Amino acid sequence: MRWVVGNWKMVRAQPSVDGWLREAATERARSAVSAVVAVPSPYLFLAAERLSGSALAWGGQDVSWDEEGAHTGEVSASMLAEAEASLTIVGHSERRLRFGETDAQIAAKALRAVAAGIRPLVCVGELAVERRDGRAEQVVAAQVDALLTGLKGQTRGLMLAYEPIWAIGTGVAASPADAETMHGVIRSRLGPLAGSVPVLYGGSVSADNAGEFMAIHNVDGVLVGGGSLRTDSFFAICDAAERCAGV
Ligand code: PEP
Repeated sequence: MRWVVGNWKMVRAQPSVDGWLREAATERARSAVSAVVAVPSPYLFLAAERLSGSALAWGGQDVSWDEEGAHTGEVSASMLAEAEASLTIVGHSERRLRFGETDAQIAAKALRAVAAGIRPLVCVGELAVERRDGRAEQVVAAQVDALLTGLKGQTRGLMLAYEPIWAIGTGVAASPADAETMHGVIRSRLGPLAGSVPVLYGGSVSADNAGEFMAIHNVDGVLVGGGSLRTDSFFAICDAAERCAGV
């Protein structure tokens, strides 16, 4: 099974959100490919309406670590579940860096998703300076360890994405060799979960390089930002996933 998860971030899909969803709803299922699009919260119910019964699932981009209450602006896991989100991204580097999310908070968010029956897709990855200093493996291993500690064994549906921060939105993807090394590190930190937790690569994935990443040992799919904004490029990536599925 290969995963392709789109992340629109706070960018409007083209030609329009509704146009994207209507077009996507007509796409065929790709064998052994799970495709999901993570949309901004206001579009979740529209995604549910347009995509239900189609080959594409939908999800959120973040979730609150609180169950409910006076937390203006937050979206709870049970609200995501009401919109039938199949997964939610958690701990994207944009949230870690811009909103100061810590490993402990990210684990608490993932726990809420697990409790609501939603797969948490937790992002890990190093900064350019950490890679330059030779600390990439150590940084990412620590992020995975902290997550597993915080989850206290509640790992149903857990997914990870290795997203080197310097590769996100830059057009400079990790080299296949570096991706393979980092995915190996992540897999080894997963211990007994190694066989059941999908680990995706993210960072400047396009229709041109997706096949290369999905062919790498320990890479179970891709998390795609810019490449998910147009249906042609998103489904070309799904085609690449299909070609690699079962390999
Ligand atoms: C992302 O947003 O998670 C991402 C990987 O973005 P991009 O594909 O645009 O680099």
